[in-house]
Amino acid sequence: MTDTLADSRTSARMFSDGVPLVVEDVPRRSAGERAEVLADPGFGRHFTDSMFVARYRAGEGWYDARLSPYGPLQLDPATATLHYAQSIFEGLKAYAQPDGSVATFRPESNAARFTRSAKRLAMPPVPEQAFLAAVDALVDADRDWVPTGPDKTLYLRPYQLAVEPFLGVRPAHEYLFLVIASPAGAYFPRGVQPVSVYLSEDYIRAAPGGTGDVKCAGNYAASLLAQEQAIEAGCDQVVWLDAEEKRYVEEMGGMNLFFVLGSGEEAELVTPELTGTLLPGITRDSLITLARERGHRVSERRFSVDEWRRGVADGSVTETFACGTAAVITPVGEVKARTGDFTVGDGTPGPITMALRKSLLDIQHGRVADTHGWLHRVG
Ligand SMILES: *Cc1c(COP(=O)(O)O)cnc(C)c1O
Repeated sequence: MTDTLADSRTSARMFSDGVPLVVEDVPRRSAGERAEVLADPGFGRHFTDSMFVARYRAGEGWYDARLSPYGPLQLDPATATLHYAQSIFEGLKAYAQPDGSVATFRPESNAARFTRSAKRLAMPPVPEQAFLAAVDALVDADRDWVPTGPDKTLYLRPYQLAVEPFLGVRPAHEYLFLVIASPAGAYFPRGVQPVSVYLSEDYIRAAPGGTGDVKCAGNYAASLLAQEQAIEAGCDQVVWLDAEEKRYVEEMGGMNLFFVLGSGEEAELVTPELTGTLLPGITRDSLITLARERGHRVSERRFSVDEWRRGVADGSVTETFACGTAAVITPVGEVKARTGDFTVGDGTPGPITMALRKSLLDIQHGRVADTHGWLHRVG
């Protein structure tokens, strides 16, 4: 009879089979402090009041799932992930809906991809239902942090890391699964602006048989120098080419790419095929569906720098854009390469790029009917 409150809290929700979700008392910032952050959240700088944490130990499975106050982790200096990068992550968003509810976008797809990432890094997968339960629990607990302004969102970052203190090289026996949340402003607060890109000819992102098709931390560490080189060349972003021939376009930074051939309803969209070295983006997949519904032919195939350059020169390639959860759709304008620079279209965002961007944002923010069942209501 002493702990009925805690009992009712833990029995209200489960993380996974046999693992209850414990809800701790979380100190909350005042409405005023929250409003100040939400007025101009930027990206990835501010975090909500709570975080989700669950632990895993070999032989025991997942245990000790809890919503705790957001705060530092204490890690042994020998923690495996700090040395060997056995670490994966996901990125998705929660959107305030016009009826006052909150929804995430295709979170089952993130859960499934998280499982594939875990398997590639020899980590024990988080059960997909448990992944969804953790994300829902955090969004529900911190729903006051879901911004309501135009195109503002709550960015969610699930991640898993090896925490066994051991310097031997083998899959760790202990892991943490965490979810944190960060309010995000509109990506283009002053209107959509095309980015300039630099074709990376010195560095590659992913090679066949590597980890290019999963979201692991190491992929990003290995990309930073090329991104720095792009910035030194006066560009916003790096464009990755295939590892073997450096002929085919793969991705832009952490986003997938689309090329528009022709114009109007007859226009065809081409996106690099998933060869195993590209990350299968959920935004990419959603846009393939939306573009086909708008009557466009969409091809998934290899697309070379030559085809891009020649197409821009003869007018057959009219638009290029990148896509991903964080920025949704970003038009590509100028392209810089050792083999010669070129500019897509007239350097302003193209009509198909902007129409697809609006279609996707309208679904995510609940401004049009969700005919695909992509929105997942929280709470
Ligand atoms: C996450 C990611 C993307 C975009 O995936 P979405 O599911 O659309 O957010 C694209 N490329 C890379 C390398 C990524 O890590």
